[in-house]
Amino acid sequence: MYADDEITADRARLAGRITELHGLLTQPQFLPADAHMLSGVALQTPDLAPDGDPMGFYAAGGKVVMPVAGLKFIEDLTMAYAWRYRQQRTLEPLDEYLAMLRWKPESEWPGGAYLDPLEAFGVPPGAWERDARLAELGTSLRNEAWAFVLAHELAHVLYAHPGNSAPAATSQANEAQADAFAMALMESTDTLPLGAFLYFQATVAFYTSRADFPSDDAYARWQREQATHPVNAQRLMAIAQQLQLWARRAADEDRRAVLFDIGDKMEQFATGLKDPAMQQLVVRRAVYGDPLDLQER
Ligand SMILES: [Zn+2]
Repeated sequence: MYADDEITADRARLAGRITELHGLLTQPQFLPADAHMLSGVALQTPDLAPDGDPMGFYAAGGKVVMPVAGLKFIEDLTMAYAWRYRQQRTLEPLDEYLAMLRWKPESEWPGGAYLDPLEAFGVPPGAWERDARLAELGTSLRNEAWAFVLAHELAHVLYAHPGNSAPAATSQANEAQADAFAMALMESTDTLPLGAFLYFQATVAFYTSRADFPSDDAYARWQREQATHPVNAQRLMAIAQQLQLWARRAADEDRRAVLFDIGDKMEQFATGLKDPAMQQLVVRRAVYGDPLDLQER
């Protein structure tokens, strides 16, 4: 999606920002006592993921790896979201865009190449330099999404999870444990998880889902036997439940309302993921839709 020179131009800035965020998240006052070692965990930012995964965040050998291309994609996606919000335009086309990335072959995109989120939504270059509120919203969404991913990967280091070599059931339990840790860290740093919700939307678009299988049974079998990092309804429901508990604990009324709202969104999204008819509709719209129409809506 990104040319080499685009990655080169952003490499130092994105690596700097994520290192800063790591420093903020791992301050001793936010971490449980047994997690203090997380401030010393090495963070690596190669340009691309080794296996060509478009986001490709992972933890291995006591390190967290966050490729620059994945950080940039999340940054562009959250900025596109913020831009549409500021323009008071509907947010549904973001789902469609993400589904197109997953289901529409690259050869059928304009000029035979994927559009990045800013191109797809016609966000004018440097729009955030002229609109301080856009910059603020886009940056907070980006940081919220990054914080969730980083905290999730740090949890894998903390619990010494073995990565992809574990059996599917173990991996899924590890994913749930890493999500729970990430949510707790978001709460103790008072980081709202709306950006994290956008991240889940993006991952669902990229990774295997119910729509890849002919039947519920085939999907269930895959989840049992092979899926190590599934983004599935159970995982999202567990996060939604944590959001509701967090909302009930929140002292501030506005904050409580926002947390309940994100929890509801997560739940609706999870319900949609379980619904094969809805998934087929998403795929059909993505296959037949025109990426150039996205910014007109
Ligand atoms: Zn994980």
